[in-house]
Parts: sequence; C-alpha cells; structure tokens
Amino acid sequence: MKKIRINGIVQGVGFRPFVYKLAIEEKLQGFVLNDTNGVKIEIEGNLQAIERFEKRIKLEAPPAALIDYYKSEQFPDAGYTEFNIKLSAKTDGSTRISPDLAVCNDCMNEFNDPGDPRYQYAFINCTNCGPRYSIIQETPYDRPVTSMKSFAMCEYCESEYKDPLNRRFHAQPIACPVCGPQLSFFDHEMNPVPGDPIDNCNNNLKSGKIVGIKGIGGFHIACDATNSKVINELRSRKNRPDKPFAVMVHLNAIKQIVNVSDEQIELLKSAAAPILILPKKVKSPLASNVAPNNPNIGVFLPYAPHHFQIVTEQLPFVIMTSGNMRDEPIAIDKKVLSGLCDCFLSHNRPILNRSDDSIILPADQKNIVLRRSRGIVPSQMKLPFNIIPTMGTGAELKLSFAITKNEDLYLSPYLGNSGSKETMDFYKETLTKYKKWFRLEPELIACDLQPDFATTRFAEQSKLPIVKVQHHHAHVAAIMAEHQLNEKVIGISFDGTGFGTDKNIWGGEILIADYDNFERAYHLEYMPLPSGDAAIKHPIRIAFAYLKAAGINPDFLTGISEIEQKIITKQLENNFNIFQTSSMGRLFDCVAAMLNLYPAITFEAQSAMALEFLCNYESILNEKSYSFKIENGKIKIFQMLNEIVADIKSNIPHKTIAKRFHKTILDFTLEALIKIRAESGLNKIVLSGGVMQNKIILCGLDEILSKNDFEVFLPERIPPNDGSIAVGQVMVANKKYKKENE
Ligand code: ZN
Ligand code: ZN
Ligand code: FE
Repeated sequence: MKKIRINGIVQGVGFRPFVYKLAIEEKLQGFVLNDTNGVKIEIEGNLQAIERFEKRIKLEAPPAALIDYYKSEQFPDAGYTEFNIKLSAKTDGSTRISPDLAVCNDCMNEFNDPGDPRYQYAFINCTNCGPRYSIIQETPYDRPVTSMKSFAMCEYCESEYKDPLNRRFHAQPIACPVCGPQLSFFDHEMNPVPGDPIDNCNNNLKSGKIVGIKGIGGFHIACDATNSKVINELRSRKNRPDKPFAVMVHLNAIKQIVNVSDEQIELLKSAAAPILILPKKVKSPLASNVAPNNPNIGVFLPYAPHHFQIVTEQLPFVIMTSGNMRDEPIAIDKKVLSGLCDCFLSHNRPILNRSDDSIILPADQKNIVLRRSRGIVPSQMKLPFNIIPTMGTGAELKLSFAITKNEDLYLSPYLGNSGSKETMDFYKETLTKYKKWFRLEPELIACDLQPDFATTRFAEQSKLPIVKVQHHHAHVAAIMAEHQLNEKVIGISFDGTGFGTDKNIWGGEILIADYDNFERAYHLEYMPLPSGDAAIKHPIRIAFAYLKAAGINPDFLTGISEIEQKIITKQLENNFNIFQTSSMGRLFDCVAAMLNLYPAITFEAQSAMALEFLCNYESILNEKSYSFKIENGKIKIFQMLNEIVADIKSNIPHKTIAKRFHKTILDFTLEALIKIRAESGLNKIVLSGGVMQNKIILCGLDEILSKNDFEVFLPERIPPNDGSIAVGQVMVANKKYKKENE
C-alpha cells in the first residue's frame, strides 16, 4: 500500500472526485480524504496500476488545482476491498484555500441551454469553478462551514453531489433554482421590486441609472460606460473627479475599445479573471470620462454567471467599480452604498470574505500584478528559506499584511487605501481569519519606521517582539523574496514616500541590500517639501519649492497663487515646516507641474501618470537626456531642472521634455549602477517601489540594464507598490531578530 500526501490548492477544485475516478479506472482500492493538511490518499492493488495512478495524479490534475507538495510512502497492505471518498477530518496542520474561480465553460454551456435545470441560473458552479475564498468560514473546506450552509440541497443537486462520476461531486457551493440562492432587486429605499431582477437591473442600466450589483467578493457600482451623463453623476456622488473606472466588457466587443493580444484575452478569460490595464482604441464607443486624459483603461470580462446576463451584446460596456466610499474597503451591505446607487441587484448568498478585483498591468512580455485580490488570494508564496513565524503589518496605502509559517507566506488581499477606522477594522477581521484558517501564530512582528501609521501602532500594541523596517529596504526585500534571492543585491526603490533612518522622506533610493541590512549607496539629492502631505496634493507647490531651492526663477509657473508663493517663500527662508525629501515620486510631481499638467491632483500619482502618458509609450532609449551629476552618493538634479526650464522657454514640445526626463532617470540610474558594480562586483538588480508602475521606467530600466549585462528582477506576482511592503518587512525583521538573539 502507498500512503500519499498532497498539498497546495487541492480542496474545492474537484481533487477528490478526480482521484476517485483515477482509482476506479486503475481498479485500485483504498480511500481519499481532505483534512487540514491537504489531501490524504491510501491506495493498494496492482503495483503497475499504482505507479500509473501516481503519475496520472500529477499529469491530469483538475485545471484549478495546484500541487506544491507531494509525498508517497510504502506501507503494508490494509486489505481494502473498494475505493472510497471519506469524510473530511480535522488535524492541526493547515491547508490552502482556493481563490474564487470564474465560471467555467461547462457551466456556461448549461447556463445557456434552455433545457438545463440551471438555465440562466446566477449561482451555477461546479468543482472546477465558482466561489471559494469568499464563502468560506473554516477549514477544511466543506459545505457546512461555508455561506451555503443555510441552503439545503434539493434531490437533484444532492444526487449530483453524491455521484463520484459527476462534475459536481462534492462541489460545496452546488445549487440550482429550486434549492439555492436567488437574485433580487431593490429600489433606492431598499424596498424589493417585483419582476425579474435581471430585467430590472438591465432596464435601469440602459436608462442611465447607477446600480449596485452584488457579485463574488463584494458590491460593484455599475453604470453604462457609453453614457457620459451618468458617469459624471457617479463621479460627483463618489467624489472621484478624475480617477479611471474599470469597464466590464462583452468578449465580442472588447476589440472595439482596447488593443488586446490573444494571450491577454486568455488571461482575461482565466479563472482569476483579473482587470487588465490595456491601451485604449483611439476611436471608441466609450464615453471619454470613463478614464479621462488616460491612454489606458482597465477592462475585465464577466466572471460571475449573472455578469453574463448584464454585460451583453445589447449593453457590452459597463462600468463596474468597487462598491465603496473613497479608499475604503469594498462593501458587502447595500446600505453602505445607499448614497451612491439608484437601485440594487442583490442576492442572498452571504459574502463572508470580501475582496476587490485584482489588477494586472501588462508591460512588454511581463504581467505586473498591481492589486492582488479576488481570484489570486489567499494563495500563498514560497519563501527562499524557513523563517520564524512573523507578521508584517504593511504600510498605509494599498494596505495588506503578510504572515509566515515555515517557508510559506500568506499575503492578505488588498484591504483599502488608508489607515481609516473602516480599513483597520477590515484589516483586523481578515487577520483573525487568516490566523484561524492557516493555523498561523506569529512570534515576531514587523512594521514601518513611520511612527504615525495605524499599522505601526498596531504592531506596537501587539505585545510581540517588534522590528521596525525601513520602507525602501522592505520594498527591495519583498521583490528579492519573490525571486527566491538570498544574497547581496543592488535594490532600486523609486517610490513616493517612505520614512528614512535620518527621519527625512526617502523615495529615490539605490540600495546595496540583503535581508539583514542595507547601505544607501545613492539617492536623489534632498529637496524641500513644504508642509509635507499638503504639497503632495498640490504638485505646483513642489515645483515652486524645488525651483527656488535650485536657484531658478519660478515666475513661469502657472496655477500657483500669490499667497501660496509668499507662504512657501517664507517657509523656505525660515526653514519652517519644510521636509527634506529624496522622493522620485515628488520629482515627477515637480516636472509635471512645471509642464502645467496638474497644479492640484485628485488621486495618488495623477500628475506622474500624466507625465508618463505624454511619452505615449514610444521608445525613449534614443532620446537625449538632461544633465545630472553623481557625487558623494547623491544624484544631483539642479542642472536638469535648469535645462527643462530652458526647454519650456524655447517651446520644445512637452512630449519631448517628458521623454528626455524619463531618459535622464534611466541614464543616471545606469551610471550609478555601473559605479556600484565596479566597486562591489554586484550584478543582480531588484526593481521596486510605486514608480515601477510607470511602464516607461520599468521596461526602460529592464531593457537598458539587461543590455549592460545586469541581471534584472522585476516585481511580477506581488505589486511594486506598497501592496507588497509587508513581504519585505517579514524577511528583514526575521534576519535582524535572529542576529540580535544569537
Ligand atoms: Zn463550472
Ligand atoms: Zn438544487
Ligand atoms: Fe512605498
């Protein structure tokens, strides 16, 4: 007899019926069961058949399964006479939970078949698809510990559920119109509206209304993406004047609005069904205020069955934005959205665990995850080595936490974009669940150096030994861990804001780093940031202060009032409420404001993005760059600012200035790296930080550094932004703590 242990994503993905079918086909005896350690199999019979059985497990595993552990041991036979699927057992290990999976083709065929009992049924699913993460309460994954527990199966569903040869064998969320959850429609006052909920929803969308739609991970706020009037109304209700909205699009119409490759369509159609950021078509049926002044748009395909009834050939472009107030967690209760929506399409399958849609940015041949959420969480990540159980609390923007156990790291979904009470409540709620599901008990806690972050206070109140980790060291360590690196590397962290060890605001950093420690090899020279955060929302003030500091007359700037000028001048003279910053994000803000792009911004990185978009993704590698000086570890930019002003005054097109500016960043980075390599012999480069969301910088550095024989590591499976900072925190904290306690 062989005893086999399998772990990975093996529960809720049809693994046991798959094993059962194999055993029956190979005429073997024994059993398979799910427990908190994954899948356990005991198998006996013909030796060659057992060999084939084991091979086929790995080769033919169900599409949504992911095996990351497989162990098989020989034991004396137990004398089994048949093969069974045994009930789930509890042990004290931990297993994975599958992410939520987009509806599969087999289910969609039934959904579209008028003869099928689940014809047009919004909650159709099978072992290959459907909700998982969002409906689970406990592990091991079984119907009584999901939000399906209140729906008793009808005879038809039960017969499928119990038939080992059926696609729905042990499909925990199995349901049909007779026994399962139902959609319903509500008006503005939350009164139920009679009639077909889907018809009601579609009529409202078509007549220019804003509809709250309950989906898999939470509510979306939906409206017709070709109707600029309703989009303006949504923008004003959400207090979101400019930030782009994502559009759910009908597959047959996608090429009308974006340029998309066949591979990208496959990614959109995958079980994770992410939002992809793709270049807009110039002539497009979309209203221009879906993503104003932006050459890209986030698009995704319907992934829940009822999405297919809403996003149809009659209404192929629907804005589907996260149902929340600005920067707060996604809502699962329609009451939260009462001020935002005219009516609601809801359902009675509770969402136990919220998640936003995941976002992926295709950049050349690579796909960069910008937001790790539905369809991806709660999958874990393998670390390069075993570490003490540690929690990284994250930063503040793009909030998410990480906890480790042995070599496994669990990164939470995106939890919100602020340290607000709502976000921190969601944070604590998710943390409690992660600890319970995956049997995580951190013995060490890591946080940012920034004393004002809610996540720093959270760490301080935890009573665990605490290690504070410099923000950009954490950025670099995160991407090192993603690539299983465990050696000294050159880490580039081009970022917005991070608290430095000298209490200044860092963000244009080239570090020599391993997990233990880092050396700040080069950084952008310090520039004055008047009144910190207030200036970040008013890039024109940054430009004014930077130019003053560089001894350049800022007279040509437009969009700054006399009073602002007076106040900042005084602040600079008296060094009052002036912060010193080496931030790359602020340098983008400064140059964008010099080009009069956005004197004031309404969402993070708006003006930096505008500067990127000016280049129009044309190659900048042959562009000339501005002058710079690298001295005593500092990258000096006064000359560049001077030359930009000269270009502006001689009416050089803004597009050219933007390209030269980007090229300058590539050039000074390359020069600094060549110096470091000459002195240290280091050749591995890790790219990190929020500025790496800029495709011209990310792809440009990748190309120019590779050409110069550097080995370059990009953020791919975890975000370059603060969404992965917790990963770096746990890695650094561990090494530091171990060293101090040796
Ligand atoms: Zn299915
Ligand atoms: Zn049923
Ligand atoms: Fe950051």
